[in-house]
Amino acid sequence: MAQRRLADLLPGQQCTDRVVRDFLRSQGGRLECVVARDGAVFAVRGTIRRRVLRQLLRCVEEQVGSAELVEVNPPDFRRWREGARPRSAVELAAAKKEANKTVEYVFAAAIERQASDVYLDIRRKEAFLSFRTFGFRRPFEESFSREAGLELARSIWALGQNAQFQEGGVCDVVFEFPHGDRSYRIRGNGVKEIRGNSVVCRVLDPEFIVPLRDAGYTPGQVNQIERICRSPGGLILISGETNSGKSTTLAGLMADLPQTQKIIEIADPVERIMDHVTHIEVPRYGDNVDELTKEIMQCLVRQNPDTLVLGEVRDRVTAEMAREMGVEGKRVLSTVHTQSCAAAIPRLMHLGIPGWQLGTRQFLAGIVNQNLVPVVCPGCGLRKHSDQDIDGRVRRKFGSDAQVRFVNPKGCADCSGGVSGQTLVAEVYPLWLDRSGKAHELIAAAKLAELERYMREEGPAGGTLTKHAHASQKIRAGEIDPVHTERIIGEFGAEDLAAGDNKIVQFRR
Ligand SMILES: [Zn+2]
Repeated sequence: MAQRRLADLLPGQQCTDRVVRDFLRSQGGRLECVVARDGAVFAVRGTIRRRVLRQLLRCVEEQVGSAELVEVNPPDFRRWREGARPRSAVELAAAKKEANKTVEYVFAAAIERQASDVYLDIRRKEAFLSFRTFGFRRPFEESFSREAGLELARSIWALGQNAQFQEGGVCDVVFEFPHGDRSYRIRGNGVKEIRGNSVVCRVLDPEFIVPLRDAGYTPGQVNQIERICRSPGGLILISGETNSGKSTTLAGLMADLPQTQKIIEIADPVERIMDHVTHIEVPRYGDNVDELTKEIMQCLVRQNPDTLVLGEVRDRVTAEMAREMGVEGKRVLSTVHTQSCAAAIPRLMHLGIPGWQLGTRQFLAGIVNQNLVPVVCPGCGLRKHSDQDIDGRVRRKFGSDAQVRFVNPKGCADCSGGVSGQTLVAEVYPLWLDRSGKAHELIAAAKLAELERYMREEGPAGGTLTKHAHASQKIRAGEIDPVHTERIIGEFGAEDLAAGDNKIVQFRR
């Protein structure tokens, strides 16, 4: 590789490899470095931790074929970055409108901090902005006046088509927000609260796809999910609560579907666009939703897809779509809002899918349940909890030899408040793989407690890992904080903790 200089690097020659970009993003976008397409890593001398730098170089080497570190000094780096900064359409427009500048500033900051949600709380006298990053909501800058808050809300809504912020009720807005080399999708919802208004804006990156093996499942779980996705048809459900990564998982599965198939996605809104998928957006509310849904059902029959990807089974209409396609032997990938695999059964029954149908192996191929849990920053995580009682309780639960680590609320330069990312804890019911028929028998009879016991202890793979057992593996390895984890998935029972170790062995085969 010839001697490289940062000053010679044109913005278009930056490395666009997805894995490298995801690595840089996983570091919170704070690394003072630029990676070129030929593997040259320009980094500001002494600003990146050795360990992170080694990981980055290894990642670049694996993806690009070679990696070379070129150290630069801070002024050169800043000059280059300022000169290479892409100017977005919104940014150009903002020069004309003062209010838009605030919107641009807020969402650009949110994207750079990897926020999934932006909250604007307008109260009687003041307004507050906060971001949710890696599952934690934290204030963004100082509070400002109520008037300024309302002005900000109005300018956010002004970016949508035919949308207007309603101070006195409920309103929605969707718009594209270009930033850097990407276009983000912002979905806002506003509602009147007793002191003012509550505004929530979800920030979606339509190009963000996490491969199944990198999401945090065990290798055994990845294998089972891949196998149920290869079943000839039937319903595959990703279940979880809000912010449990359901739609990211669904997008990952959709990306992996064979390109030789006809795939139709129906969602509200469509979050990620893929070349091999037909995306149809169906609004959830409105005057003629029923009519529209009927039309889409007819169109589905005629378009005859091999796979239907349904954003969420959330009401009788979407449940009927899933049922119809499932009965025809199509593969249906969807999500459902429940706290466990077993809880998806009564939820689907409540939405009108009869138990006997769910109890058919060809109809219900598998259920995944998951939560997203914050990852303890490897740089600043604490070996001891500041509260002795909690520390003692955790050690009694997870064993004194466990490498337990806690989130350090003070954080460090490499993380956001002690959290360096999020990972999944999950359980998988690979029902299609259960040839004994036992699991489906229990589902048809709605014997859910027995179903859970059967899946845990016997099941198709000689027992599946429960979500709590999966979480306890990650706690024992120091990857996730036990206190935060319990807050998200609930307390650990003795069974979950005992099951942990032997299941690891089973999943290796
Ligand atoms: Zn840290």
